[in-house]
Amino acid sequence: MIVGCLALNSSFEPLTMVPLKRALRLVIDGKAEIVEADRDRTVHSEHIAMPRPAVIRLRKFVHVPRRFRRQVTNTFLFARDSYRCQYCGRWTWELRHRESLTRDHVVPISRGGLNVWTNVVTACSGCNTRKANHLLSECGMQLLHPPVEPHFVHLSWAVRRLTPTQSHYIKLFYGGDVVRQLEAIERKNGGLLPPEAQAI
Ligand SMILES: [Zn+2]
Repeated sequence: MIVGCLALNSSFEPLTMVPLKRALRLVIDGKAEIVEADRDRTVHSEHIAMPRPAVIRLRKFVHVPRRFRRQVTNTFLFARDSYRCQYCGRWTWELRHRESLTRDHVVPISRGGLNVWTNVVTACSGCNTRKANHLLSECGMQLLHPPVEPHFVHLSWAVRRLTPTQSHYIKLFYGGDVVRQLEAIERKNGGLLPPEAQAI
């Protein structure tokens, strides 16, 4: 059953899930077009009957501020790195008592590094302390994965509610890896994402 409708920007960038009612309103008002619909199910709204939309696309491009959707937060940072220290490779549940996951700046702020996605990684408190304000080349530590900007975090809360048709559009825009990564995060959390993620 389709719970919500995936809304795409006019550029086909997946934006968010919207409730069916809101999706219909956007279509009726001419603000969005139906890209995919469940042809077997008809919805009636006022005097119009139409196939139930699964994916809609906004007619006008909506500018989503970069800082809004890509702000670095520990919630999304840890999720991006699969709750794993990017130096010693330990998962959050392997940490010892009093250890915790922290945000590490690969190039330390004190050395001119910025608080941006491509310069932050998840590190256990032990590794973070050990690295201190060194550059990787100075302390001989290595990253498991180079940090990347997660274009998809705002969608992570919705992934379990996506139908195959809807996931198809996320794959089209971001690639299959992103969908698999989201599904892995969901599985790891038992489907329970932090409240911050659900609020988006
Ligand atoms: Zn570590």
